[in-house]
Amino acid sequence: MNDLSRLTNDDKDARERIESAAADMLARACAWSDMNTGSWNIEGLNAFSGVLANAFSELDADIRLQEAPGFETIDSSGKIQTIHTAPILRASARTAAPVQVVLTGHYDTVFPKGTFEGVTDLGDGRLNGPGLADMKGGLCVMLEALKTFEAGPFRDRIGYQIVITPDEEIGNHASSGALTEAARSGAHIGMTYEPAMDTGAMAGGRKGSAVFDIVLHGKAAHAGRAKEEGRSAIEAAAELVVALEGLNGKRDGVTFNVGVIEGGGAVNIVPDLAIVRFGARAPDAAAAAWATDSVDRLFAHATSRPGITGHVHGGFYRPPKPRNTAQQAIFSAVHATGQAIGLDLEFIDTGGVCEGNNIFAAGVPNVDTLGVRGGRIHSHEEFVVTESFAERATLSALLLNRLADGRMDGPRIKAMMEN
Ligand SMILES: [Zn+2]
Repeated sequence: MNDLSRLTNDDKDARERIESAAADMLARACAWSDMNTGSWNIEGLNAFSGVLANAFSELDADIRLQEAPGFETIDSSGKIQTIHTAPILRASARTAAPVQVVLTGHYDTVFPKGTFEGVTDLGDGRLNGPGLADMKGGLCVMLEALKTFEAGPFRDRIGYQIVITPDEEIGNHASSGALTEAARSGAHIGMTYEPAMDTGAMAGGRKGSAVFDIVLHGKAAHAGRAKEEGRSAIEAAAELVVALEGLNGKRDGVTFNVGVIEGGGAVNIVPDLAIVRFGARAPDAAAAAWATDSVDRLFAHATSRPGITGHVHGGFYRPPKPRNTAQQAIFSAVHATGQAIGLDLEFIDTGGVCEGNNIFAAGVPNVDTLGVRGGRIHSHEEFVVTESFAERATLSALLLNRLADGRMDGPRIKAMMEN
């Protein structure tokens, strides 16, 4: 047992306070789950952002809803479209305190309006409902942990920035700037509230994730009368797709997946447009650079065909989050803190990505699965384990206590990022 894995009286007070708030947390998560916030349901997101701001105003912090900048997508005609989403919730507290934390989460879900609604009690300590685990439950955990910490004796030792985004499930393209800005405004440690696995395990190293859209233009011509005058964008795209898939297995941990091909019109017209949409994953910065270079090289080859032009859109929107010494230091501190409340927390590497990748890329070490325990996320069987609300809120409150009283040295862990 070390200092972190022992309970102080302040820790015990925090645990008691959270246990008495457990039913309220659960009720709040269910009410929030009932409000649809699918990533494209802008009306629903706007309505929910007000509810969220109201709830977070229980904190001793400045709360504001910040308009998110537009972000670009490539439509099926190959043109750039600018999309606007709902506001980002920002909160700021005690920016001059010696320890600074950046807390993040998202309020969108993957479920469009009318596709998955209502909370169902599965009867075995689990509830089924949209976004209950990912991550409205996590937002309730974040809020309760902060309220509890602020009711304790160390409030003035920790300041924080909170960023809650409307677009995590579609890549944080509108909110990545806000995440980076909050992380860079002096944060030592990041805390993000994605769900833990139902077993309790949390995410360790994460790969980086890229999305690319390559638009290829050729020249249209009548396929019967003047085939030779045409330049087929689909033919160029087909060669490109085979080459992209051929990159799999070429470098450790790097994968490519072409998910969508669009283009062409009628079978009697040489197609003058093809769009190839694909994703890539890479375990570290060097591998991500290799993947990006490979895409550039294959694009250059495709557009070296006579009559073929085009453009590449996208890239690594979430850089890799490997296990470096700073990350390992956080994981062992979280593990020891878990021991204080009888948890034996495991950290498992994953190919999945989240806002923790963005916070890491901004230079701040972080733990990103501090939310509730749950499973089957992104499916209609999504569930949350009800007892995990109090358990995980206590874990977060205890981490804040340790950062505040120095048992966990946030500035020292942050300094490990630099070497
Ligand atoms: Zn999520």
